[in-house]
Amino acid sequence: MKTSALYARVSTSGQEKEQTINSQIAEIVSKAKGDGSAIEQGLQYVDDGWSGELLARPALDNLRDAVKNKSFDTLYLYDLGRLSRNFLNQLILKKELTEAGIKIVSLHDINGENPESLLAQNVMGLFHDYERIKIAERFRRGKLYKAKSGILFGWQAPYGYEYIKGKEKGMGNFKIVPHEVEILKMIFQWIGIEGLTIRQVIKRLYEQKIYPRKSKNKYWSTSTLSRRLRDETYIGVTHYNKSKSIVPENPTKNEKYKKIKKSSRHNNPKDQWFAIEVEPIIEKELFTAVQKQLILNDSFAMRNKKNNYLLSGLAYCSCGRKRAGEGNSKTHNLYYRCTDRVLRYPLPKECHNKGVNATVLDDRVWSTIVKLLSNKNLIKKHFGIWKEKQKQPTSNTDFLKTELDKQLDAFETQEKRYLEAYGEGAISLSQYKEQVQAIQNKKTTILTKLQRVSTDFSTPSAPVILPDLDEYCDKMKIILTNRDFEKKLPIVRKVIQKVTTDGTIATIQGYIPLQIPVENTQENVKFKSEYRYRRSPQRRKINPIQRPP
Ligand SMILES: [Zn+2]
Repeated sequence: MKTSALYARVSTSGQEKEQTINSQIAEIVSKAKGDGSAIEQGLQYVDDGWSGELLARPALDNLRDAVKNKSFDTLYLYDLGRLSRNFLNQLILKKELTEAGIKIVSLHDINGENPESLLAQNVMGLFHDYERIKIAERFRRGKLYKAKSGILFGWQAPYGYEYIKGKEKGMGNFKIVPHEVEILKMIFQWIGIEGLTIRQVIKRLYEQKIYPRKSKNKYWSTSTLSRRLRDETYIGVTHYNKSKSIVPENPTKNEKYKKIKKSSRHNNPKDQWFAIEVEPIIEKELFTAVQKQLILNDSFAMRNKKNNYLLSGLAYCSCGRKRAGEGNSKTHNLYYRCTDRVLRYPLPKECHNKGVNATVLDDRVWSTIVKLLSNKNLIKKHFGIWKEKQKQPTSNTDFLKTELDKQLDAFETQEKRYLEAYGEGAISLSQYKEQVQAIQNKKTTILTKLQRVSTDFSTPSAPVILPDLDEYCDKMKIILTNRDFEKKLPIVRKVIQKVTTDGTIATIQGYIPLQIPVENTQENVKFKSEYRYRRSPQRRKINPIQRPP
């Protein structure tokens, strides 16, 4: 009995005018049924909302793995464009399938059963590729032309307006939405006249139950609101070609799969913008006043950051979130507060742990560091534990190593695939180089991790010379006594990993530095990080400190 599989994909882009994923699947299933084979659920590979430009798609990857294992012998597709929008990538995939002895049945293509029809199929593929690029380009130039002639077309109108299609194609305009305009005027006045900050505005909007247009969370986000407040559309000029989508240079998330390639937006130079007049909503004076107030608010926020928090970035709340320094520098009422309140804003907070007086916690933590690092017995005990640990790699290490090795193998397979594709002439040298470079980068990261795993836990390559521990503790005491803030800060950053508190009890987690500079103990405090000893979590001693009543 023959086993069949299907692959279906639609992209999110409306331009392609594709059918829905379900109608694709339904058509394929009924065709397969007619051929006398049922496609079981496990062999239906579906990428819903993925661009055909990229090869890295979750269901496609699963399909390719199934191909490698020869889990089926016929693959049904709506058309070959489902596999890839890029002709060369399409060739790679087709080759993988045919080499595994899998028959491809495409519902809307010439099916290549003999050399002539195969050639025809490839020519069609190439033609589609060319056509796609041409259409995209024509579309882009057409829009530019309209914008240059001052015509608004198919735009997503900003809050306060609605886009109205014209009688003639492309003769659209923005129409004012009265209730949204009222809200906008109010917001601009709150800032321009009352001098509110964006956050205060968000809170007020939430309290008055005024929600943004697309509101999943029912509150305005800082970024949305600050974009609206700076949008010149409201004083009567909207811009086309202000930005373009690009492949992100420094992606914030290092995801394995990306739904679209160009997920980042980049501002075009101002001379490439096209101004189009629309009906203004906000008076110019008020708009200018708001811009000034926003700059003022920013500079005030910057000034506020200058308070001295010894544990900034290291303080955590027992609820798991970070604690951030807050307070008035003039009155010296500085606190470490749980960021739950800020992050959930303007929704009510979930964490009810109290803020901790920053001066008190800083002092307590510092004196604890001094006490711990000059405690000879404690230091000796922990160095002993650490030395033991150096001799035996843990089972945890082995697990990590196997995991990393597996990842490395997967990348090597990928690399081979591309090399093969290049060898066959399916991709160009520059495409090959680009792909391989990306893989190489990932491999380097894994290799570094592997190295770290080995050096961190297994037998060290060079024996570590332990300092004289009595002398170490005496010197530490001298170094740590009478430090001012500037000198304390680098030490705290080296020694402390985390300070967690619920408002009453604080737990310090940190490292014992292995070496201290013998010379110049008065001024230069430097710890050599390569000898830094990381205390293992299971052996960590918890040193609770009590907050004074
Ligand atoms: Zn909390």
